[in-house]
Amino acid sequence: MEKPLLAVVIPCFNEELCIKETVDKLFLVLNDLISKNKIKPESYLYLVDDGSKDSTWDIISELHNTNPLVKGLKFVKNFGNQKALIAGLEAVKVLGCDCVVTIDADLQQDEWSIEKFIDKYLDGFDIVSGIRNNRKSDSFFKKYTALAFYKVMNLLGAHIPVNHSDYRLVSKHALDIMSQFPERYLFLRGFFNDVGLKTANVNFDVKPRMHGESKFNFASLSILALNGITSYSVVPLRLVSILGFSMTIIGIILGSIAVCNKIFFANFQHDWAIDLIMNCFFGGIELFCLGTIAEYIGQIFLEVKGRPRYIKDTELK
Ligand code: UDP
Ligand code: MG
Repeated sequence: MEKPLLAVVIPCFNEELCIKETVDKLFLVLNDLISKNKIKPESYLYLVDDGSKDSTWDIISELHNTNPLVKGLKFVKNFGNQKALIAGLEAVKVLGCDCVVTIDADLQQDEWSIEKFIDKYLDGFDIVSGIRNNRKSDSFFKKYTALAFYKVMNLLGAHIPVNHSDYRLVSKHALDIMSQFPERYLFLRGFFNDVGLKTANVNFDVKPRMHGESKFNFASLSILALNGITSYSVVPLRLVSILGFSMTIIGIILGSIAVCNKIFFANFQHDWAIDLIMNCFFGGIELFCLGTIAEYIGQIFLEVKGRPRYIKDTELK
């Protein structure tokens, strides 16, 4: 296969402390790959500023002025990391590239693994997923909530590796297919794992965050997880129906026993404590099921309006 024109997409949200160092380190990798004749010399970086409030965009503009191989896009406000990634992928498809790698601005992912991604691409793979060797740099809470999330996603049929990340390479062919999925909440990890193209995995080491703090909090991680589930699988809706049906059967059996007791043995016991517990229990299950259905209705509501996924402010190409 011919050596590719590589684009590297980097989502940035309040990353003024990291960007310059990250860009320098990524150019070391690109120059190394160019010298090994594995990628084209016009390969470039594409930074997406996801509505930062600090000087992130000023630094990106400065870097672009000194080196046109640093390109950038600024959102009008914060749309979240998935939207920044999607915007970057869509933009480099228009600008032109043969394959694209997405990597975080804090370079927690080992940037030197890009060479392994390219090797897989040259072997004919359309998607190369980065798999973390460990989650040592994650907090205890994040490690186990992430693990639980992937377990749930896999039970729902997503087949996403547990230590998956948004560090991946996708080919131009995969980008073309992505553009046929116009949905607003495209969950990239689910999509690229399930699209059906030739996929390889590359293991990489996770480093501690270079500077600053994680841009995700409990709320944004929960929203990402919920969107991942509701945009990807309808299994929870089926579970609601199955649960409802099973409880009806149990209700009929228990009801019949109670009626028989009353008629034949006249020892029907009525206990207010059990009444209260049962009411709370079944009320809880009902509201949980209603909430599950409501999540899907919310998703339909947001999709049906057909609003843009993100709004661009400025682009430097
Ligand atoms: N990010 C973003 N928009 C957001 C939150 C995060 O573009 O709303 C970017 C962030 O700048 C970084 C990447 O997404 O490049 C991953 O974020 P972070 O490193 O804070 O997440 P963590 O590694 O803690 O999961
Ligand atoms: Mg990080």
